[in-house]
Amino acid sequence: DLIRPERALISVSDKTGLEELGRALSRRGVELVSTGGTAKALRAAGLEVRDVSELTGFPEMMDGRVKTLHPMVHGGLLALRDDAGHTASMEEHGIAPIDILVVNLYPFEATVAKGADWDTCIENIDIGGPAMLRAAAKNHAHVAVVTDPEDYGALLEELDGQDGATSFAFRRNLAQITYARTASYDAAVSTWMAGAMKIEAPRRRAFAGTLAQTMRYGENPHQSAAFYTDGSERPGVATAKQLQGKELSYNNINDTDAAFELVSEFAGQGPACAIIKHANPCGVAGGATLADAYSRAFDCDRTSAFGGIVALNRPLDAETAAAIAEIFTEVVIAPGADDAAREIFATKKNLRLLITDGLADPAAAATTVRQVSGGYLVQDRDAHHLDPAGLTVATKRAPSEAEMADLIFAWTVAKHVKSNAIVYARDGATVGVGAGQMSRVDSTRIAARKAEDMAEALGLSEPPTRGSVVASDAFFPFPDGLLAAAEAGATAVIQPGGSMRDKDVIAAADEAGLAMVLTGVRHFRH
Ligand code: 5GP
Repeated sequence: DLIRPERALISVSDKTGLEELGRALSRRGVELVSTGGTAKALRAAGLEVRDVSELTGFPEMMDGRVKTLHPMVHGGLLALRDDAGHTASMEEHGIAPIDILVVNLYPFEATVAKGADWDTCIENIDIGGPAMLRAAAKNHAHVAVVTDPEDYGALLEELDGQDGATSFAFRRNLAQITYARTASYDAAVSTWMAGAMKIEAPRRRAFAGTLAQTMRYGENPHQSAAFYTDGSERPGVATAKQLQGKELSYNNINDTDAAFELVSEFAGQGPACAIIKHANPCGVAGGATLADAYSRAFDCDRTSAFGGIVALNRPLDAETAAAIAEIFTEVVIAPGADDAAREIFATKKNLRLLITDGLADPAAAATTVRQVSGGYLVQDRDAHHLDPAGLTVATKRAPSEAEMADLIFAWTVAKHVKSNAIVYARDGATVGVGAGQMSRVDSTRIAARKAEDMAEALGLSEPPTRGSVVASDAFFPFPDGLLAAAEAGATAVIQPGGSMRDKDVIAAADEAGLAMVLTGVRHFRH
């Protein structure tokens, strides 16, 4: 199964490493055949190259749309060298075998990312390249195909190790990589088209990403894992620049995403901070300064904040950095960091600092995908943004201005808490978060108990739920959860409403002297 290559067809958009590769192949006596730009670059490096147009007997035409789509090329790639019929055809038509194919495609994804217009993106859909890649990969029994400059070195090493040949196992491995590339290429085209046509959740779509990172392990050490990016330019964990610390783990990426998406809700508002553990916020707060916001978020649950992920809605400053550095923190993500802050973090080698280009737009349309056994669930991103004008007051008492501000804050946080979600807030800071319980009343009780813990940790005279407001991500099915919140000392409630027993729930709220507003929208999150 060792194949000693005699001819290589090289047609690359990304000319990285081209010269070294061409030279190394030439030196091994491999004949080089290339398309226009590639041939020019190889000749400029002093190498001997045959033009593909000489091979096909046709000029490259139609702005390069048709260069290599020809039986002289595809016959050379697809022919089975050990099949009498195939070799007879090759002989009859003078088709020379191509043993190595090196192609990387028109930079479609990069063209889209640059914000190019429709026609430019269309022109950057490579046709001949994928056709050759797929042909060579299919015929990996005879052809070695490389599509990523990163793999040039491996090809040359293989030739060295196998005395100038390639093994079947090596070629088959390359074929698998190649089909991943052509699949993600077409998926990128389809996804771009859906986006350009404003189809938010296309009924037929393909998923693909670019391998960005392989990890030592996944959610647990016995699970292997990798991170694929989808080419989106949105500020977020995938596009952030890491300034220090070791690589992010699987759980880090998941939690950092949750933290940044949450804090981005406070774009255009005063300083805000969210601290995340296991994808749920253990403290979220606004503050007079960023350090104040951090300290108030930290106070909500100092125990859980240990080893947490901190997200900030404005550039990290020295005072905040110093406060964060006081406890063990896994990751800090912020839209910038000043020099003094960076200097403080520089002494914390294990702390990862991620810098984003601004904040995410919480109202931006996007698609979320989740895998279940046997398939994918696809939906629009939860981009709902509360319009205070759309709230209805359900109780006799309307919330005060201060209560209203806290209600909106608590509701915003609850959107980012796993269901069933209950969030108590006071003065623009969470004081108790109940997440991920199977019953809403349990979430309410847990959140209230967390507030009692907070009082104990901070030496407060009473639990901070006294005089707080409470948000529930979905309606209260019975008055019990609401009554538990009233008992904890909440004075106002925000919830979607819409339960069959809304009347009972509203009556219970009135009886307890609560002010309650209904959003008409729910924020399940699982
Ligand atoms: P070059 O820079 O050598 O002129 O062009 C290289 C690029 O052309 C590569 O990205 C390759 O995938 C692409 N290519 C090769 N053959 C064809 C073809 O027949 N049609 C189109 N549209 N692209 C091709």
